[in-house]
Amino acid sequence: MFDPTIPTRHPGRVCIIGGGGTGAALAYDLALRGFSVTLLEKGELTSGTTGRHHGQLHSGARYAVGDRAIARECMEETLVLRRIVPDAIEYNGGVFAALSDDEADYAPAFIEACQEAGIPAREVPVAEACSWEPALNPAATRTVWVPDGSFDAFRLPLSFFAAAKRLGAEIRPFAEAVGVEASGGHVRAVLVRQAGSIRDERIECDYVVSATGAWAGVVGKLAGLDVPVTPAPGTMVAVRGRVSDMVISRLAPPGDGDIIVSQRGLSIIGTTQRIVDNPDGILPVDEDVAFMLARADELAPGFSSRAVHAVWAAARPLAGRTSGDGRNISRDFMVLDHAPEGVAGMATLIGGKATVLRAMAEKAADHVCRALGVLEPCRTRDFVLPSWRDWYAEVLP
Ligand SMILES: Cc1cc2nc3c(=O)[nH]c(=O)nc-3n(C[C@H](O)[C@H](O)[C@H](O)COP(=O)(O)OP(=O)(O)OC[C@H]3O[C@@H](n4cnc5c(N)ncnc54)[C@H](O)[C@@H]3O)c2cc1C
Repeated sequence: MFDPTIPTRHPGRVCIIGGGGTGAALAYDLALRGFSVTLLEKGELTSGTTGRHHGQLHSGARYAVGDRAIARECMEETLVLRRIVPDAIEYNGGVFAALSDDEADYAPAFIEACQEAGIPAREVPVAEACSWEPALNPAATRTVWVPDGSFDAFRLPLSFFAAAKRLGAEIRPFAEAVGVEASGGHVRAVLVRQAGSIRDERIECDYVVSATGAWAGVVGKLAGLDVPVTPAPGTMVAVRGRVSDMVISRLAPPGDGDIIVSQRGLSIIGTTQRIVDNPDGILPVDEDVAFMLARADELAPGFSSRAVHAVWAAARPLAGRTSGDGRNISRDFMVLDHAPEGVAGMATLIGGKATVLRAMAEKAADHVCRALGVLEPCRTRDFVLPSWRDWYAEVLP
């Protein structure tokens, strides 16, 4: 039963722009701290990157060698999400497989880095890994178990939306922020264009958080800001049927086409990375598809003989700028306060991963509390969220 006590409401009104997972988690966190929250999403909820990602609940193992702090955070958040959103998660574990000498040589550093990050990775005999997952390539020379999992990209944020709504947040899909109004160097209101309405609306607020992911640059411009975000699309291919229950990854530094995640009745190989200027209308790249099916066959022979169910692309909201393919940009997230640029009362929350949406929201909500002089702690670890089904119970009559 989701029934948290809410502190006495204080007068702070926060407008969140962006209805992906990050915005959902932030709406919940701020509502739980007693703020009046309005969330604007220009399309359907989760219609940005959130509804199109791979769905891997990252233990952090993938990042451990490169960045222990990110890996540790993923592990901690995995455990929190397992507890508070259990019905969106399949927690089946993961296996990293070495398919070359270089990959076999990577194993000791990989395991050590995982353990330093608090991830209980352990090498297992290849035969044992193959007995767990018969689709795994038996030619693998080393295999490592990690506590990876998968989650439903859509259902996870819907639980946060349901919780936020139950706490009084106003969640408005098909409501595009088209202007940010400031006076005296402080944001006063957001201008909104609601689909179907002939007149723009003005929503007065004390603070605005842009949680617009790959669109953060576009939305920043509404307030005259130059937000450092790099939209970095990747292609994914889903085939019919479950190749495995566990997440199967390549025992190597993060690269292209190196993870198979099974979700419900599908198996998804991902992904690639390039960078673009405009996050709208991103399409998969044809050569990526052939490449990824070939890579999937290396991890799980026969993957490509299954019927292709879907091919799609989505853009990572990388926090920072680059002239390369974006792999040099950290996967960490940041809360950018725009007061130093002359726009007080507005921040942008970018970067990160879907796995750490709750932690991203916590940092951003702490920031809003500091800015508005509110002393309410984060409590989003404490309650099991309503089911994603309750979102519909909340919105349907
Ligand atoms: C190919 C790929 C695979 C990935 N796989 C994984 C994975 O397996 N596991 C994992 O943890 N993470 C994964 N990620 C990362 C994860 O998908 C993102 O970090 C996360 O979804 C970003 O969520 P968000 O809410 O910040 O952004 P989004 O979901 O993009 O939300 C931003 C929203 O803002 C809205 N918006 C934009 N402009 C306006 C406006 N003017 N007014 C109102 N609304 C507006 C957009 O419509 C959008 O819905 C992957 C990313 C990619 C690209």
